[in-house]
Amino acid sequence: MRLSLSILILALATTPSDGTVERRLVVMGTALEISVTAPSRREALEASEAAVSEIARVESLLSTWKEGGPLARLNTAPAGAPVRLPSELFELLESVFAWSDRTAGVFEPAILPLVTAWGLRTGGRIPPAVELGQALEATGHRRFRLDSPSSAASKLQPGAGIDEGAWGKGYALDRAADVLRAQGVSSAVLDLGGQVLSLSGVSSDGDCVGLADPRDRSRLVGHVVLRGGSLSTSGNSERAMVAGGRRIGHLLDPRTGQPAPDFGSVTVFAPSGLVADLLSTAFFVLGPEKGPELSRRLRAEGVTHEVLYLVERESALEAVASDGFVPAIEDLEVSRLWLNDIPLPAPATRGRKKTTEGRTP
Ligand code: ADP
Ligand code: MG
Repeated sequence: MRLSLSILILALATTPSDGTVERRLVVMGTALEISVTAPSRREALEASEAAVSEIARVESLLSTWKEGGPLARLNTAPAGAPVRLPSELFELLESVFAWSDRTAGVFEPAILPLVTAWGLRTGGRIPPAVELGQALEATGHRRFRLDSPSSAASKLQPGAGIDEGAWGKGYALDRAADVLRAQGVSSAVLDLGGQVLSLSGVSSDGDCVGLADPRDRSRLVGHVVLRGGSLSTSGNSERAMVAGGRRIGHLLDPRTGQPAPDFGSVTVFAPSGLVADLLSTAFFVLGPEKGPELSRRLRAEGVTHEVLYLVERESALEAVASDGFVPAIEDLEVSRLWLNDIPLPAPATRGRKKTTEGRTP
């Protein structure tokens, strides 16, 4: 079971009213916490059931861990053999391939050869240089051909493969949100393996999401108030493996084939779960020096999102945030806050104290 609760939804302090249902279960190989509010308890229960089934449906569509699913079939097909895909999956692949180009390839869904070479699914290993070279050669979505008329994909190189790890959960959250909206739900919050999606309205109190200290994930160093949209964190601390005496992070740089250097964590807000998920991976790989530049470029291109880096510097923690994020962040405990690269002293901790409420008063 993969558990990466880097962001915790704080427990609801109020006893759920009649129309609120909260559930915890395991899906997509990780923990799902879902809280749904509807006019009646029966409606909330039905809607939460539908959302969970939708996430399970997306898992069967995307999982490359189990045999038999369409992506798993594509990954094991011989080079040149077209594999017909459900149109939803075909369009999703087109979309994530395009996102890879938009992030200059630091987010790369066709990264399975490198994931396998570093043994990220089997506890970690150091690949021999020749094997690493071959894996790097087989990595990248240009090793795939997508044929729209037939809705089929084919590998152009035998070793090529897709990994859904950096975008599958975000996509599942988006689909679950659609299902909840279709059921008339206007207030819900979901935490899927540490990625949170909120269905609260902009004028609501919002959902209060804790920001974990990358040096010690059981500690919070602030909160983000989410009024709709999704929050995704990428960090290495929890999932790093050790092989040959070396610490291997689970986020790889597709340009070099090496694990991305660990600096702390990065949290991304975006209206869409898919975009928050894949951008947090891309920004982690770029690191706090280069990431803000891509963030600014994407915002200039109209990609709505905000980014917050938490950077370990010696024993201190520093933050780099896009300025649009700052109003949503509360009680940030860092020694220094850099706003879009302009160094500023850390703000004094603001009034409202941390409480255990899931929703802010
Ligand atoms: P988490 O699963 O901890 O939330 P991410 O969303 O950042 O973290 O996804 C990490 C997973 O994505 C890795 O376990 C691996 O399967 C895959 N991956 C690693 N590096 C990249 C990358 N540069 N681009 C796309 N996927 C990646
Ligand atoms: Mg991700």
